[in-house]
Formats: sequence, C-alpha cells, structure tokens
Amino acid sequence: SLTAGIVGLPNVGKSTLFNAITKAGAEMANYPFATIDPNVGMVEVPDKRLARIDELIPAKKIIHTTFEFTDIAGIVKGASKGEGLGNKFLENIRQVDAIIHVVRAFADDEITSVTGTVDPLDDIETINLELVLADLDSINKRYERVKKVARTRDKEAVAELEVLDKIKPALEDGQPVRSLEFDEDQAKIVKGLFLLTAKPVLYVANIAEESMADPDSDQYYQVVRDYAQKEGAQALGISAKTEEEIAELDDDDKKDFLAAEGVSESGLDRLIQASYSLLGLATFFTAGGKETRAWTFKRGMKAPQVAGIIHSDFERGFIRAETVSFADLDHYGSMQAVREAGRLRSEGKEYVVQDGDIIEFRFNV
Ligand code: GDP
Repeated sequence: SLTAGIVGLPNVGKSTLFNAITKAGAEMANYPFATIDPNVGMVEVPDKRLARIDELIPAKKIIHTTFEFTDIAGIVKGASKGEGLGNKFLENIRQVDAIIHVVRAFADDEITSVTGTVDPLDDIETINLELVLADLDSINKRYERVKKVARTRDKEAVAELEVLDKIKPALEDGQPVRSLEFDEDQAKIVKGLFLLTAKPVLYVANIAEESMADPDSDQYYQVVRDYAQKEGAQALGISAKTEEEIAELDDDDKKDFLAAEGVSESGLDRLIQASYSLLGLATFFTAGGKETRAWTFKRGMKAPQVAGIIHSDFERGFIRAETVSFADLDHYGSMQAVREAGRLRSEGKEYVVQDGDIIEFRFNV
C-alpha cells in the first residue's frame, strides 16, 4: 500500500507528530497489528459518509479504511554525500510514495533548533537542497551513458535524454523535479528514475498552540504556505504537541477540546486527508452485508482492479459492479428509492471507479 514518509530536521516535532499518529492508531480496536513496525503508524481515515451510509443501510459494524505514515530517521547535513546516517535517510525516502516535510514554526527558548532560531524557510531549504543534490548525483551518473546510446538513435535513449536534459539544469538551479511539467510518456520515464524531488510533498508547519484556530495569521506558517504555493505544493499548520494530547482523548472529549480551541477538525485529521489526496487515493464503500466499510483505491483504477482490493477472486471472476454514488444514496434516502429513480448503475470492466461510489461486485467463483 502507498505510504507517506515524515521527514524533517532534528527537533522540529517529528516524533511528537508521529506519537500522535501512533496513539490515534492504537485506538483502533480492529487493528492489533498496527504496532508491528515501530516506524509505521497506522491511522483510520475519518469519513463522515460512513455513518450516513450505515444509517440508510444498517449493518452490525462500521469499518474505516486505514492509512500508513512512515517515520523517517533524522537527516544530517551532507546526506547527499552518503555520509553515515545520510545514505540510509535517502534510501528511506526513496521507499515512500509522498513526503510529509515537517518544519519548526513554534518559538520555545528551552528547545534548541538546529539553526539556533526559528526559521522555517531555512529548515525547508536545508532538506530540499540535500534531496536536490542526491537527485543530481543520480542524474549525472546516468547522463553520459544515455547520451552515448542516444547517438545510435536508439529511440528509448533519445527520449530519456530529452527528459534528462530538462531535469539536469532545473536541479542545478535548485528546483525540485516535481515543479517541472512532462507529457504522459515523459512522466513514465521520470517515474523510472526514482528521483526524490519528483515525489509529491506536503509541508507541515509545527505551529504554536495559540495559532491553531487560525494558522493563516501565524507569521511562520505564512512563510511555509507561500513557499509551498510557489512550488505548487500544499501546506498545513499543525500543533504537534496539541495533536499528541488530542490523540489520547475519547471521541466526546476530543470534540469538546477542539470546540474550545475554536477548530472543527483535528490537525491530524486534516493531515490524513491531505496526505490521502497527495497520494491520489480515494474511497469506495461496501454496504448491505454485516458491515458498512470504506476501502482505499487509487484514482483512475477500473472496476475489476478495485474489486481485487477486496479479494483477488472478485477481480478474476469480475462480471459487473452494481454502483450508486454516495451523493445519490444520501439524496434519495434508501436503496429502493435509488433503484426507482434509476440511479443504480450496472458498470462493466471499463468503468473508472469514483470517490464515494457504493459498490456491490458481481463475480463468478
Ligand atoms: P524531532 O527531533 O523532530 O522528532 O522533534 P521532537 O518531536 O522530539 O520535538 C523536539 C522538542 O520540541 C521536544 O522537546 C518536544 O516536546 C518539543 N515540541 C514538539 N512540538 C512542539 C510544539 O508544537 N510546541 C512546543 N512548544 N514544543 C514542541
């Protein structure tokens, strides 16, 4: 499954945030395996649609879909030169599908930041520079070889060289590969290069508790938000310490606490949702049996592939997908009314599943 890796300089609040994730995950009664790998934190994806579906098509229980965060050991300057921990750090990032880049945006005299002051922009650039240098190193290693082969008019090499010629100067200029535009064929080539700066990123400013209700008014968050915007990336303002406290509360206390803070959603919930969309993930539902359940799929997947997420037999013997959108079920209020309105669709092999679809798969065994 796809995972997002939490990355950042020392003392910015990564462990605090990861603890919040692990604590929230520990609440999940259905997932005793959540603690098997200490570097992986599993959380439920909050989704209000589940309760509504269960109200209209009652079942014995509700099962949320889950999402994994990976804690990536601290970066050290010089990582791109492969010094000690550095190499491992880059290897770990290579294995995640998206980067959650945490920067310090809280002032606290007791806690020393690496740079001595609170400077989120400097934090971001320190790490991004290491990632850019590591990518440049991989590109340079390939470049001469590909260029030689391209001289023989080898089609693949010519296409790759074109991509490398676009990436190399950008990296030399300090730009991440994700900020470049590629057509579909080129994007495939880029994917095959496994570059660190090609991964989607979400910048998380670890802000002071007082800024939680309105991150946009926080001077440090503003800097992070504007930087992200220039890169076409997203940013979030979260108070890691407060999230760790919230994660220990039960649902009612959590609601009260958030109301007192003046926010409607916890930062962790926002982080989960933002990471989910960063990875191109979406949710479909099954209902009507013993359980009302949410499942994760990758946007763009067709019905048989999505059926295979539930069980490989469903994919192998796929016949069709009886589908209703959440919006229609919500609007018509019952499956019978949905049917009468002609809103229950029988979808075939080529159907591209949409976020919010409620599906019953028909298959041969
Ligand atoms: P890491 O090295 O990035 O994993 O950072 P830690 O999570 O260990 O945090 C470093 C220090 O900053 C710890 O003493 C935390 O208690 C403290 N800290 C983390 N988040 C916050 C925060 O939001 N506000 C304040 N005041 N302190 C925090």
